[in-house]
Amino acid sequence: MGSSCLVRVLIFSIMPATSNKPYRVGRSKTGLGLFATKPIKKGTRIIRYFGPILDSRIPEHDEIENKYLFELNGRWTIDGSVRKNLARYINHSCRPNAESDVRPRERKVYIRAIRNIEPGDEINYDYGTDYFKAYLKPIGCKCDSCEKKRKKLRAEARAEAAKVKARAERKAQKAGAKVAKKKKLNGHAFAKANGRVRV
Ligand SMILES: [Zn+2]
Repeated sequence: MGSSCLVRVLIFSIMPATSNKPYRVGRSKTGLGLFATKPIKKGTRIIRYFGPILDSRIPEHDEIENKYLFELNGRWTIDGSVRKNLARYINHSCRPNAESDVRPRERKVYIRAIRNIEPGDEINYDYGTDYFKAYLKPIGCKCDSCEKKRKKLRAEARAEAAKVKARAERKAQKAGAKVAKKKKLNGHAFAKANGRVRV
């Protein structure tokens, strides 16, 4: 029994850990991201954001700096930079399909679906105002929602420029027509004065 148990443990440990999970790490616009591989219903807890718990009152902890720190409150922070923490691949979105469920007392964070997520969809949550202001605003947020907004603004600017151009062209055309009309009238007047019709 002991040996078969060990074999089972070994087999289990070499099986890919993500096989029965509804997500995988994949390429996203900004590098890597976490993508749904199965439908995920709104309200489902997708993954835990985990790592060593840092205590800001311990100077060595307070010195740790990386972009995967998840602050639970004024004192406790999760250092999510550990390799096994696949939730660290989840990118920010201003219009996300998931959210972080922060439980400071348990010192745990879960990422939960706030919309139905389809296979192939990238999983996102809102990193919050502080992160946005510090890291995303200076370089321009690359999330779908912001890309769409920028695209819309560019399209509106193009449409406005086209309108201005069309107006200017109409104006120029009108001015041209006026000049032509004037010339014609003059010609007519001249022909009349001579008593002959010009061809
Ligand atoms: Zn955005």
